[in-house]
Amino acid sequence: MKGLMQVEPLLLSALLVHAEENFGDVEIVAWEPERFSYTYAQAGQRARKLASGLLKLGLHPGETVGSLAWTTHRHFELMYAVPGIGAVLHTANPRLSARQIAFTINHAADRFLFVDPDCITLAAELAPLLTTVERFIIMGPPRESDPSGLTLGYFDDILAAGDADFAWPSFDERTASTLCFTSGTTGDPKGVLYSNRGSLLSAMAIAPADGWDVSASDTIMPAAAFFHCNGWGAPYLAPMVGARLVLPGRAVDGETMLKIISEEGVTVGSGVPTVWMGLLDQCIRTGRAPGTLNRIVCGGAAPPPAMMSDFFTRFGVRTIQVWGMTETTHAATMLSTRPDVLTGATEALAPQGKPVFGTRLRVIGPGGAQLPNDGTTPGQLQVKGPWCATEYLGRDDIQLCDEEGWMNTGDLATVSAREGLRITDRIKDVIKSGGEWVSSIDLEHAAREHDDVLEAAVIGVPHPRWQERPVLFIVSRDGARLSPADVIAYLKPRVPKLWVPDDVILMDALPHNSTGKVSKEDLRQIYGERVRAG
Ligand code: AMP
Repeated sequence: MKGLMQVEPLLLSALLVHAEENFGDVEIVAWEPERFSYTYAQAGQRARKLASGLLKLGLHPGETVGSLAWTTHRHFELMYAVPGIGAVLHTANPRLSARQIAFTINHAADRFLFVDPDCITLAAELAPLLTTVERFIIMGPPRESDPSGLTLGYFDDILAAGDADFAWPSFDERTASTLCFTSGTTGDPKGVLYSNRGSLLSAMAIAPADGWDVSASDTIMPAAAFFHCNGWGAPYLAPMVGARLVLPGRAVDGETMLKIISEEGVTVGSGVPTVWMGLLDQCIRTGRAPGTLNRIVCGGAAPPPAMMSDFFTRFGVRTIQVWGMTETTHAATMLSTRPDVLTGATEALAPQGKPVFGTRLRVIGPGGAQLPNDGTTPGQLQVKGPWCATEYLGRDDIQLCDEEGWMNTGDLATVSAREGLRITDRIKDVIKSGGEWVSSIDLEHAAREHDDVLEAAVIGVPHPRWQERPVLFIVSRDGARLSPADVIAYLKPRVPKLWVPDDVILMDALPHNSTGKVSKEDLRQIYGERVRAG
């Protein structure tokens, strides 16, 4: 017998309708970089007009359009207007190489490409490489002259042509909504095609108190861009709970973050560890507290426990660690860090936390046999859930999931009911030395405990006897006189002998990839060049 309940498809457009109806006067602010502000009522109306303008322009449900843009208010509107009519928004990553961006746009078959005014030169560079884009649409008003030589349209013209009374259509909730690509460190980037249902359910699953813990009293600032897992769900969470939303535009360096957080009264931000280490460093150097900020959602790479405890003890900012992948829509696990954990041993801050409802985890051995979830047996991590990918777009050659539907993550980890997930490393980053594994993450955390170390990254380099040995790259705090010998002397009593790096290299800055994480590929290249140069 079926229940006697209404059946409403779970569509993303419902989020904006909810915010328009219930939080219409709540503000959305965007730093583009000039400050811009309006309300959910205005954003909702503009998104509907834009959707109707896109239909008038000939966009059909099921087709894909691209965006090459930062975290702006027009981009936010696109995040709703395109999926809202059953089409797909491919948020292209302007930080990839031109060749890779062109690959993603062609692979996705984007019909239109929405271009941030800041990315016009990049779009002109891409144009000869693109095979499906019919029209470039500048995200702004018409400009008097455009030196790019592109066939242009303008966002504001499409909006103006739209119907103010347009109502969101209803359709199958499994319809694709957005498309993000993995960062493509090995081979071409791979497309992950999200659905309305999966994105909406995932946003609901990460919102509760042991997760993002968001409410209408919050001001949310996503420092994770929309092209990285839909901005980690922030553009959905904010209208869902009626939180004020602050869109930071392009720059997410420590100085800019501190300015935006202080001036806008941000209470919660989300982003990779590099962003938050930059903010923490800025706060320490200037002696300025990060205003009303009381928690950060941090993941994409392992946040150093020393950073988490520093943020809390100095500024009362809680870090909510998340683990997730482009393939898991948003966060799949979250470490709820209550004050007693944050002030206790930093070791308790290392795990990535328990799965959010809807996500299950397990580890398998090299032959595919399931290993115990006992917190001590590391294996290849697999994940399962209604918003985990089944396959990559147009890549039948890659088997993402096994026969039972468990998705391979490429991570090594332990899993237990006690602490949830603990990532050992990426399979390709773990250092195999003398028949044992050295976790690059654990060694980085240990180095980061040194007061003068701002950032630390570890790679494995080939060794004739031990197979691989760790090499540590360090960025020291401003003014610190740190030598490689100091770092080795600091680490020796703190880590197993096998972990002590063979080499410590001091850098002015670490290289970062297209989503702001430390790029180990680049570090391997840098190390190789040093070795060749003698
Ligand atoms: P991406 O698809 O770019 O978001 O990368 C996903 C990968 O980032 C995961 O498979 C992990 O290797 C890594 N990652 C994400 N969150 C964390 C975390 N909290 N700790 C350690 N690694 C993480």
